[in-house]
Amino acid sequence: MPAIPAPDMNEKLAGPLGDFAPAQIRAELHRMADWIADYRIGIAERAVSNDVEAGSIAASLRAVAWEEPAGMDRIMADLDDVVMPGILHWGHPAFLGYFGSTSNTPALLGEMAAAALNVSAMTWKSSPAATEMENVVLDWIRDMTGLPPGYMGVVYDTASVAVMHALAAARESACGGTRTEGMLGRPDLAPLRIYASDQAHSSVGKAAIVLGVGEMNVVRVQTDDEFRMDCNALERAIERDVAQGLTPMAVIATVGTTSTGSVDPVAEIGRICGERKIWLHVDAAYGGAFGVLPEGRWVTEGMDVADSIVVNPHKWLFVPLDFSALYLRNPQSMRDLFSLTPEYLRGAASDSSAPDYMDYGIQLGRRFRALKAWMVFRAFGRAGIESRVRENCRLAATLANLVSQEPGFALATPVNMAIVCIRYQPAGIDSETANMRNQQIVERVNATGQAYLTYTTLRGETVIRAGFGNILTTDAHVNAVWNLIRAEARRM
Ligand code: PLP
Repeated sequence: MPAIPAPDMNEKLAGPLGDFAPAQIRAELHRMADWIADYRIGIAERAVSNDVEAGSIAASLRAVAWEEPAGMDRIMADLDDVVMPGILHWGHPAFLGYFGSTSNTPALLGEMAAAALNVSAMTWKSSPAATEMENVVLDWIRDMTGLPPGYMGVVYDTASVAVMHALAAARESACGGTRTEGMLGRPDLAPLRIYASDQAHSSVGKAAIVLGVGEMNVVRVQTDDEFRMDCNALERAIERDVAQGLTPMAVIATVGTTSTGSVDPVAEIGRICGERKIWLHVDAAYGGAFGVLPEGRWVTEGMDVADSIVVNPHKWLFVPLDFSALYLRNPQSMRDLFSLTPEYLRGAASDSSAPDYMDYGIQLGRRFRALKAWMVFRAFGRAGIESRVRENCRLAATLANLVSQEPGFALATPVNMAIVCIRYQPAGIDSETANMRNQQIVERVNATGQAYLTYTTLRGETVIRAGFGNILTTDAHVNAVWNLIRAEARRM
């Protein structure tokens, strides 16, 4: 066969219908590499947040004649001058809000390579390395956190999307025919019920909305003094529902709740679900990572009672947003539910033993997310991940120790993993006033731009919450944040 004549790619790259010219490609990528390096190296010197007026950034972004191409000098200047002032720096070492999603250089390199490759990991054939690396990385996460061997993983963007898929499989298992017949107009179907603790994440409710189960059918089970699901209450709720002709569809056990990091009694919940053949989904989005520590391994031990388990490496295994791993005891049930190959994709479907990940969910185009995770795990190694998780826990314990010595302050719960919940309630103020003060402390600390915290409510009490997950946070940051909290409390 005659070789296809090589066109002059330089001309195409540089032409009006192409990309940038080769020299410019190199120059701009180097400029961005420097920009990123400056950002990472200097992040601790920035204000964590800036005071911006809502709409002001959009107004500036709109005020350009974007119909005409702009030079990269101008675009980069806008990035610095317009966009950066409106960034809340989640990667700042004093950002302790939510679950700070930490970035790092290996992860950035993986993201850059994935963006350059821009492949879709929808089937094995659509990019064999993307599928096989996803496979390997998922095995590593399962093994390093101590999840049950033999469970198959699938990467989704977020735990919210993962739980929606898990509950779709649970729905099919509970009433059958949902794939083909749907749920409307079926007299054989009773309302479906999902049970989750009163501390479970809101993503459960959203999944119920999407799946046609309805938010009101998410039963919030009460928790004990340490915010763990009360299994007697769970059993009672299920029995009450069955007696009323409702169909228990799934139970969500949370390992590492959002507010306090509490851990539901998975083994006992598993027993309850096993006896009644109810799907058990374990939401270990945050807490699964604790299993990388020998002293944290208890959180994942015995999870083989679960039908599905989610772990979010973007919360606490140092893989930046987004990367969520769902593990399935019976992956075939997910495949049976979602495999639907249109004619034009038949040639892309795998004829090997490798999975076609498009068959395990609604997404067809799938980012090569595994690449950044692979870079992080290779660069830090298993030991490096373990020591970083342990360091996050040590910093949380350090803050907790400071809190427990300060009059007027108390730990609202024992410290779980790397989450500290602090209650400011000096003598002589009532609970409602204290709620206001706790909220104000957080708002005022955040307004200084020197740190970032969030607040949450535990049984009607507003508490200050600090979550550690950033690899750049040091003792000095912990002390600084604590001094800010105390100073704001004193100013009141
Ligand atoms: N589950 C728990 C326990 C969480 O804390 C969160 C988020 O904070 C989620 C699920 C949802 O995670 P995602 O943001 O990946 O959807």
